[in-house]
Amino acid sequence: MEYMPRNLKVQKQLISSKNILFIQDIDGVCIPLVKDPMTRELESKYIYAVKEFAEEFFVLTCGEHEGPRGVNRIIERSLGSTTEPKDKELYLRGLAACGVEYQDNDGEISFEGVSEKEMDFLSKVPSLIKPKFDLIVKNIFPELNQEDINFHAVKSICETRFSPTINFNSLFDLVKKDSDKRKLIQISFEKMMNEIILKAESEGHKNSFFLHISPNLGNKNGRETIKLSSKDDIGSTDIQLLLKGAVKDSGVLFLLNKFIEIKTGKSPFGNNFNFRNSPKSFREKIDLCKRCIRIDDMPLIVGVGDTVTSKKNNDEKSYLRGGSDRSFLEFIQTLGDEFGINNKIIFVDSSSGEVERPSTKKTGLIGISDIYDNLQFDIVFKNGPKEYISWFIELANKRSNFKKNS
Ligand SMILES: [Mg+2]
Repeated sequence: MEYMPRNLKVQKQLISSKNILFIQDIDGVCIPLVKDPMTRELESKYIYAVKEFAEEFFVLTCGEHEGPRGVNRIIERSLGSTTEPKDKELYLRGLAACGVEYQDNDGEISFEGVSEKEMDFLSKVPSLIKPKFDLIVKNIFPELNQEDINFHAVKSICETRFSPTINFNSLFDLVKKDSDKRKLIQISFEKMMNEIILKAESEGHKNSFFLHISPNLGNKNGRETIKLSSKDDIGSTDIQLLLKGAVKDSGVLFLLNKFIEIKTGKSPFGNNFNFRNSPKSFREKIDLCKRCIRIDDMPLIVGVGDTVTSKKNNDEKSYLRGGSDRSFLEFIQTLGDEFGINNKIIFVDSSSGEVERPSTKKTGLIGISDIYDNLQFDIVFKNGPKEYISWFIELANKRSNFKKNS
């Protein structure tokens, strides 16, 4: 409840600001986390609320829009139609696959910056994973027969177009609370995914791919640190093979470029800007914005995510900070500071879903943030996606009334 007064103040500001832009993660934010991604559900009221925000809303997710596992299938299920979302332009606008796959709300997809050779390799990855998966599972679970292993393979190996993924939830179910076994699963599959990277390199893709681990404990020498399971935190649940440059903070630049183009008719970073020609470092990204965006064109940005981690290091003096939403939320916060705009950072507690995560209700921000953390939340939705969605629907309504009357 301590967040309520601040919450109302934020809501007021968002209703009446001239230009706002939502940049929102999907899983754990508007869709409760589930162990089997094929069972994800999205409230239809939320889909209509997104439509009300019109050009002021984008998603930014490491999942994908298209394909059998895509968010577009969830939209179609939720609306009970495969034609209505396209006709009424109800697909979620924005970037998927961590910044590679863009779609408009009519479901038209583009993915600039990816070569045909890279697409070819990506399409082979699930079949490269399968025999390695079989070996690892046989080793950890000698009692399983081939049929059982195949059952888990279907659930664990995600054949997504830009981001083939190995997900641990199905195997985690077998070991219940045994965190040592969970660790063994995490370590074995991280090693296996590194072998896939080596295979890519040996086929001439030296600088094409990297591993995105979710959630992670930050980045060390360009590699993400796996969050090993403990008694009360399941740790990393999946590893994705991603195209280099596909990071959410570059996605923010891409979306900002699009937003300003729609508003002013001119893209500040040029028409061909994509994740591949985005500057790499945090500072260079901020500098690009300061160089190319006029302060009057800069919207108040609302960043929304659920995957942020902070873990006290063994030496007790420092923290390992990570999580797939951290970089883009920190970027939005810093960008606001640099432009003198009080951008808003919203954290949705996704621990109430089927995947164990630190709970703000039980332990506050432990495991998520710490007192020395630069990242500061303006609103924390302790009750998860349900609470966020009802706040969002109310805001969409009020914002759209304000725009009609102004
Ligand atoms: Mg998420």
